[in-house]
Amino acid sequence: MMQKILVVEDEVKVANAVKKGLEENGFEVDVAYDGRMGKSLGASNNYDLVILDLNLPHSNGYEVCDVIRRRNSRIPIIMLTALGGMDDKMQAFEIGADDYLVKPFDFRELLARIRVFLKRAGSEVQQNSQYKIVIADLEIDREKKEVIRGGKKIPLTAKEYQLLEFLALHKGKVISKLVIAEKVWDIDFDTGTNVIEVYMNFLRKKIDKDFPNKLLHTKTGMGYFLAEE
Ligand code: CA
Repeated sequence: MMQKILVVEDEVKVANAVKKGLEENGFEVDVAYDGRMGKSLGASNNYDLVILDLNLPHSNGYEVCDVIRRRNSRIPIIMLTALGGMDDKMQAFEIGADDYLVKPFDFRELLARIRVFLKRAGSEVQQNSQYKIVIADLEIDREKKEVIRGGKKIPLTAKEYQLLEFLALHKGKVISKLVIAEKVWDIDFDTGTNVIEVYMNFLRKKIDKDFPNKLLHTKTGMGYFLAEE
């Protein structure tokens, strides 16, 4: 079955170039040229991945992202923007984007990132036969991609889930940021970014904050690990 990608981008030239490139690489592509259309397509179709421009007429990328996340909390969303700077990057992650590309970007770079997300989503279960990981009252269902703590389902974004699952598969072992960047993001982050810290904070809020016994731990200067205290 062809994987389906939604491209939300008001710059017609960029949108059409991305559509053409993706179609040549075997994807099925829908394009929305403004935020309203993006919300409407995103809310009524099942996509495997979304490429979303930040500055859009009618509804901005954050609003579109929110609508799409409500339909599917784990769909990978790659945000595009002409703006640089850490504020926007953090904002993009906070709103639930899983990755971020600054325009102008190289199509091959975009394609590489798309493949990382889609390869992972499709091959995870085959790679490891351990479908369910249980740590204390935390349950990770790797088939359904569901996380439950204390009997309550916890909604995670695609990247949050991948990070948690990676730590869970290495339960009790300290994993360095470098290894996390390489294995969870598949991208060499320049050492200046603190994306992993940001994601660990997101996970702590969702997984640990409401529970007295913490499962996510930091080993200062070494990395992170997931274990019962
Ligand atoms: Ca735009």
